[in-house]
Amino acid sequence: MKKRILALLLLAALLTGCAPQSPAEKTVFCMDTVMDLRIWGREAEKAAQVLEEALLDLDRTWNASSPASALAALEAGEPVSEEVQSVLDRALALKARTGGAFDPQLYAVTEAWGFFSGDYRVPSQAEIASALAVKKYDLGGVIKGYAGEKLVSLLSGLDVDRAVLNLGGNVQTYGSKPEGEPWVVALQDPRDQGRELTVQVTGAMAVVTSGDYQRYFEVDGVRYHHIMDPKTGCPADSGVASVTVICADGMTADALSTALFVLGLEAGADLWRESRDFEAVFLLTDGSVYATPGAALSGGEYTVISPQESGKNP
Ligand code: ADP
Ligand code: MG
Repeated sequence: MKKRILALLLLAALLTGCAPQSPAEKTVFCMDTVMDLRIWGREAEKAAQVLEEALLDLDRTWNASSPASALAALEAGEPVSEEVQSVLDRALALKARTGGAFDPQLYAVTEAWGFFSGDYRVPSQAEIASALAVKKYDLGGVIKGYAGEKLVSLLSGLDVDRAVLNLGGNVQTYGSKPEGEPWVVALQDPRDQGRELTVQVTGAMAVVTSGDYQRYFEVDGVRYHHIMDPKTGCPADSGVASVTVICADGMTADALSTALFVLGLEAGADLWRESRDFEAVFLLTDGSVYATPGAALSGGEYTVISPQESGKNP
């Protein structure tokens, strides 16, 4: 009898060892979006808690419209933490790297179009001109990417095997699947043409998409979306419907996705050729798809962006 119980216990242990472990899951509402955390490992539940707190803290710190944020303190001339200063410095460096296409000081422009209040409107040229002259921080274009980085560093201090963090369209992966297969991340098709485009990544990686379908309003049949061209103060109109950037550095991925959306395919491809330290997928408004050679894109036809050509149609 004892032997049989022992055998059963052994079988049960073996079965649980083989069965796919279920993740700890948490949904967090912050940064004006929905975030879904899935974490595997011994301390997964604890990690979900720690990550939720970190996200809510980041939301408080970086909410440009809140008087309690670090940005409000900065405006008031008060000192900010080293962490806040380093994020601001990195954001300005990314502005320089993208020739100003990513601009973390466009608060007044985005506000003029009503994207903070939700009272959407098309501002006059005079309003746009004066908003462009105001240099007030809005880190909305990078903060979810920075959050991904921060969450990864918190996970690495815990007994956690792997995680997939969907931070409102920004996907941050961590660790590897049990068999070492890559993570497969689906790209939303902006014009819903029935394609199922996916990219594959391994380890800790940020897959960040900026698109004209994520936040927009329409007046007289014209779509006004939330990614501004810093040169015009109007929604960027570069022929791109969405850009996905894949990069180990979350904040860089996020800034580049916004910048490439503003720059469009040709200038965006040139920016990639300068460093080739990230991968990108461009979905154009005409339905065509372009991707850098290392993007590991599948699920539809696409043109590979050439590393050599410069200044020409990729
Ligand atoms: P999402 O936040 O929808 O994932 P993005 O990462 O592209 O998309 O960020 C867009 C947000 O960044 C806008 O809502 C606004 O707050 C801010 N923003 C808009 N235009 C720019 C720009 N050219 N550079 C930097 N930030 C921008
Ligand atoms: Mg971005």
